[in-house]
Amino acid sequence: MKEIFLLKLGEIVLKGANKRQFEARLRQNVRRRMKRYGNFDVYIMQSTVYVEPMDGQADVDGAWEACHFIFGVVSLCRCRPCEKNVDAIFAAIENYLGEDLDCVSSFKVESKRSDKRFPLTSIQLSQEIGGRLAEAHPDCKVDVHHPAYTVFVEVRDLAAYVHGPAEPGAGGLPTGVGGRAMVLLSGGIDSPVAAYMIAKRGVEVEAVHFFSYPYTSQLAKDKVVELARLVTRYSGKMTVNIVSFTEIQEAIRDNCPEEFFTLVMRRFMMEISQRIAKHDGCGALITGENLGQVASQTMEAMAVTGAVVDIPIFMPLVGMDKEEIVTIARKIGTLETSILPYEDCCTVFTPRHPKTKPTLGQVLNAEKNLDREALIQRAMGSIEKVKVNDHDESLL
Ligand code: ATP
Ligand code: MG
Repeated sequence: MKEIFLLKLGEIVLKGANKRQFEARLRQNVRRRMKRYGNFDVYIMQSTVYVEPMDGQADVDGAWEACHFIFGVVSLCRCRPCEKNVDAIFAAIENYLGEDLDCVSSFKVESKRSDKRFPLTSIQLSQEIGGRLAEAHPDCKVDVHHPAYTVFVEVRDLAAYVHGPAEPGAGGLPTGVGGRAMVLLSGGIDSPVAAYMIAKRGVEVEAVHFFSYPYTSQLAKDKVVELARLVTRYSGKMTVNIVSFTEIQEAIRDNCPEEFFTLVMRRFMMEISQRIAKHDGCGALITGENLGQVASQTMEAMAVTGAVVDIPIFMPLVGMDKEEIVTIARKIGTLETSILPYEDCCTVFTPRHPKTKPTLGQVLNAEKNLDREALIQRAMGSIEKVKVNDHDESLL
């Protein structure tokens, strides 16, 4: 018999009245992800998503790999379905996991019986199967406390399923159940991690990137699109709104006191991002800001930059140490791309002595010689939309 995947649901199980809606969304997400790997049937029963290849052409290994990136799944296993009787279960284990058992010194069997009509209790089933396996593999001892390997048997509605240890899933909530938000995506380490963390809470993520050609290069832009693509391995798809920021940065350089350059620039970024967000149905902004990391990330600076925005600003990294952020970046595969040495527009015209404790009054005064609305309108007119999704090839 063929192999299928069982994806175990995480927090969705706790969602009470919304559970059905969450499950429907997860099933839709899994279906969409499986499409490129062939013909798979995807259905949910008993808080588990079943992913079943429908013919011999399916790329089962590719599909299995992709399942590790689907939010809403806490753990997953490849398993072999069989008939719901002890002989069939034993035969399936021998056939499917027998080689694994020959490579380890001890094992135990753990059974779960959600079909209560099955004649043996879970413990009886584990004992029966464990006894037969111990006989068939004399070098592998039963050890119920510290086994080197665990054989799992799940007696469910449609069939029994046997498998080895499960692997951790991506966790979080299914993409799309939490609305949509817009991440301000730079080429740095932090903002892709911030996007991933909010996406993990079931939020669809779109991106905006500010680009200052010729001060920043085409490569810097490709790098950001590539970072977005890497995040879509988890989030599914994303549109990156690329905004030409050169005119605004030059206007700031020519018309504002130097110590306020970064703050004024960040207020433009926030305001433009919010306009794009509202236009594209996003209910919040996401940034990679982190308390105390740089001069523009003090409380006072955040108050001043946040003052132009009236939707929530999510800063999931605000209280983290750099090491913790780097660990996540490494785990999700964005670190290597983030550390490529292309300039970000934030490093163009950086003040020698940035203001760390600004007041709103000071910043408004620093902006008084700018025609903000006209600058914003022109920047909005320059937007280039680049669509990326998890099926795309790497850009770099
Ligand atoms: P990152 O590692 O994400 O670049 P950072 O530590 O370099 O962050 P800043 O450069 O102060 O911090 O930027 C703070 C946040 O502002 C970023 O995390 C990102 O959300 C946003 N941001 C900075 N530069 C850009 C840009 N060019 N386009 C879009 N958003 C940006
Ligand atoms: Mg940066």
